[in-house]
Amino acid sequence: MDNETHVTNEQPASLQARFKDSSQSELTILYSKILQQFPNVRFGFSTKKGGVSRIPYGLNLSYMVGDDPNFVDQNRERFFGKLGISLDLLAVPKQFHGDFIKIVSTPGVYDLCDALITATPSVYLCVTTADCLPIFLYDPITPAVATVHAGWRGTKLKIVEKTIKKMIKEFNTNPAELRVFIGPGSGVCCYEVGDDVARDFDQRYLVRYSTKKPHLNMKLYTKIQLIDAGVKDKNIEMSEYCTICTPSLFYSFRRERLNSGRMMGVIGMDK
Ligand SMILES: [Zn+2]
Repeated sequence: MDNETHVTNEQPASLQARFKDSSQSELTILYSKILQQFPNVRFGFSTKKGGVSRIPYGLNLSYMVGDDPNFVDQNRERFFGKLGISLDLLAVPKQFHGDFIKIVSTPGVYDLCDALITATPSVYLCVTTADCLPIFLYDPITPAVATVHAGWRGTKLKIVEKTIKKMIKEFNTNPAELRVFIGPGSGVCCYEVGDDVARDFDQRYLVRYSTKKPHLNMKLYTKIQLIDAGVKDKNIEMSEYCTICTPSLFYSFRRERLNSGRMMGVIGMDK
């Protein structure tokens, strides 16, 4: 039995070479200062670094982008293993750029939703991104956690504000107590949008660096939604990273298109 397991785990020589080549970089995970203050909260956000997938995929964690699923399995084991989270405790949304929000109490794959909320310990909520904003919320009083996926559509739909309203309705969450981390995503430095997208946004979220197309400031609009929902400024942490102009650390759909891998972020409460 032991022998059999050993043989199954062994890689063919050609695979080993690729494995070595693309995993030269050390596993790199981003953490949040604001969430780290709570020892019962488990949180991490992946980068490209430290995976087994062939170039350009690296530490890609999505099965949906053309990467070899066996490599994705190994990448997920590396990332979630480093965080001490068992893969069978993940709640993963099948995101579709809408504003459906689900309250969950068990791990699993959840269809057609871009935000998950749980008050159940040991259910670890995920969000998958390349340029869209990943947003992580923690209510230390209830306690409860939530993840939100917001591209320009979700931002326009105010999904993060709606998620907080749902937490208030369901758990009587006090927004003034919420701690929020806005992860790496398209920065205003690079996120050029067409006039069809721009016309849906207030001028204060649009920057025109030249006479060319405007740039959308999704991070600012997300922060304003949080403040409008009652979150305190001091309880919001925003990643400075722009995924589009930081190719050493992040995948970017805008930059890489079809060859873009995906990062994942995860948040949950230990028992
Ligand atoms: Zn940028």
